[in-house]
Amino acid sequence: MKNVIEVCPYCGSGCKINLSINNGKVIGASGANGLTNEGELCLKGLYGWDFIHDTKILTPRLKNPMIRREKKGELEAVSWQEAIAFITEKFKAIKDQYGADAIMCSGSSRSTGNETNYVMQKFARAAIGTNNVDCCARVCHGPSVAGLQLSVGGGAMSNSIVEIDDTKCIFIFGWNPATSHPIIARRILRAKENGAKIIVCDPRKIETARIADIYVPLKNGSNIAFLNSVAYVLLEENLTNRSFIDKYTDGFEQFKQIIMQYPPESTQAITGIDPFVVREVARMYATSPTSGIFWGMGVCQFYQGVETVRALASLALLTGQIGRPNTGLGPVRGQNNVQGACDMGALPNQFPGYQNVTDPEARAKFEKAWGVEKLPDTIGTYLTEIAMKAEQGLLKAFYCMGEDPLQTEPDLSAVRHGFSKLDLLIVQDVFMTKTAAVADVILPATTWGEHEGVYSAADRGFQRFYKAVEPVGDVKVDWEIISLLSSALGYPMHYNNTQEIWDELRELCPQYYGATYEKMDANGGLGYVQWPCPTLDSPGSRYLYSDGQGGVKFDTPNGKGQLFTCDWAHPVERTNDEYPLILTTVREVGHYSCRSMTGNCRALAILADEPGYVQINIQDAKALNIKDDELVWIESCRGKVISRASVSDRTNKGAVYMTYQWWIGACNELIGEHLSPISRTPEYKYVPVKLTSINDQ
Ligand code: SF4
Repeated sequence: MKNVIEVCPYCGSGCKINLSINNGKVIGASGANGLTNEGELCLKGLYGWDFIHDTKILTPRLKNPMIRREKKGELEAVSWQEAIAFITEKFKAIKDQYGADAIMCSGSSRSTGNETNYVMQKFARAAIGTNNVDCCARVCHGPSVAGLQLSVGGGAMSNSIVEIDDTKCIFIFGWNPATSHPIIARRILRAKENGAKIIVCDPRKIETARIADIYVPLKNGSNIAFLNSVAYVLLEENLTNRSFIDKYTDGFEQFKQIIMQYPPESTQAITGIDPFVVREVARMYATSPTSGIFWGMGVCQFYQGVETVRALASLALLTGQIGRPNTGLGPVRGQNNVQGACDMGALPNQFPGYQNVTDPEARAKFEKAWGVEKLPDTIGTYLTEIAMKAEQGLLKAFYCMGEDPLQTEPDLSAVRHGFSKLDLLIVQDVFMTKTAAVADVILPATTWGEHEGVYSAADRGFQRFYKAVEPVGDVKVDWEIISLLSSALGYPMHYNNTQEIWDELRELCPQYYGATYEKMDANGGLGYVQWPCPTLDSPGSRYLYSDGQGGVKFDTPNGKGQLFTCDWAHPVERTNDEYPLILTTVREVGHYSCRSMTGNCRALAILADEPGYVQINIQDAKALNIKDDELVWIESCRGKVISRASVSDRTNKGAVYMTYQWWIGACNELIGEHLSPISRTPEYKYVPVKLTSINDQ
């Protein structure tokens, strides 16, 4: 028996795992002593591995390449050679007839590594000739990347997971750490024991609210109104750091003009929050020696998600709670490598290392390195635009790697319809997902435990994971499949191992240059290197924006933080007599993303299974005559799904909450798109619905 060091393939906490292997099979997992998890794991880390050996609980593993020769025909198993030839012919025909921008590729934020994401975006740009490459950050922290880049320059956590222990005020906004990132939640408890003050803003009384010093049960969809009022109090009560504002920020006067329209007394009707509570939040955040803001989907998945991120960043800029240890801004990334997919340039507007595709200097650098005469210079298609563009005839092929948009996108019937218009849908995955089931080509890939590479944790921490077992079936490693396809298309790609890919990447991205395999392999494979890590002797950066001389320098063009807010706008849809309740999507502690991995793990499948549940407040349930655990219909103007009622006082009156991973109770059927105009992220958090007991039908 042996133990192999892995990084957990689920959330972005970056927990290190000892995977126990016996006779070539995984037989257990235990916590390794990683920087962020210190030997601990949550239940997904402990029990989320047995899908590797094809348990077939939810869906079987993909073990052979398959093609569907005719639309509506059957998938048939073929050789790799035949599958690659089939795709090559189709890609060439589409490119010849419609141009490179008729082809779309996706990176993956799941259990494939940074090297694969690097190779995929290189394939899109250099082999196909398009910036049409994106990843699932688009439907989660896309607004954090866009908002932070505009406000402070870097689209990532400015602080660190380990810094939470010593942060004296932890401001949690629209993020449920106990469910989304349980191991980080432990650090919040530890911080509390160390004397930290905790502020929790969430319409639901989430677990962390139980230990909060201030719990702010703000109304669904009122984020910016609340944050503007907090900023108002900071200004009115002289709680700002004036010298920080003068030295390190721009835009104060314009910011102030908007903020002065938001005294807490005037926003109470929108937010439902007593002005005294707003004032207490502002005082606690501003006067703490070190404050950090941490947020999740409750900030991002709104039409005004980018603006909300910028409003949060402005609180840090007003008070100088950034650019020092244990302070800063923490978008806590959901999937284990969504930070990495962005770091590697699986984005339609940026090369690896967040270098803009519209920047001629950046393009020239990548053209030279990749041996390409001309790289595309316009921003590509976003993941959330695929169905619409397919519907319009602008997109003809989608090479979908490790994503399941037919489960995870909003307005699923419109997405299905759009996808049906594609001439070619390729799915490269581990399981027969909803999207794989309608694909024209299936390329079966290895999964976590079967390959090696580097992941980025939520706080910019690069970590190595290693191959533990031989894959079963005729499957290949993701980056090898992409390389085969690229070579067949006439752009040869040959890598012998992931280190060759990583070293190529390091040369092209100054802020990753010093993050070598050697550093990550150190300490028995437990090395943790946070970017920026610009030199070979740099240990990496625990927090961002120090100028190295006791001051602050942001990564914006002029080095200053950009103060910004805007007027609050109601979410796009509104409740009405027919649909009086607000549906919001949330997370389930035992399952992850589209559930293809966790749904195939015995222990996790037992914990929670179809048809999922809809959380509803006791008073609403009583008024609707709905009992706990009863089957109910949840209906919006787009259709209806079935689920089980979970009745409690944990949720607020007037809103219901569902997780999106169930096949029967697929709440994304009910949700409209309403994309942020900046990040193109959908408004998953506010959908008018009604509930009825199935007994009433
Ligand atoms: Fe895995 Fe996240 Fe749980 Fe850690 S907290 S074990 S990374 S799911």
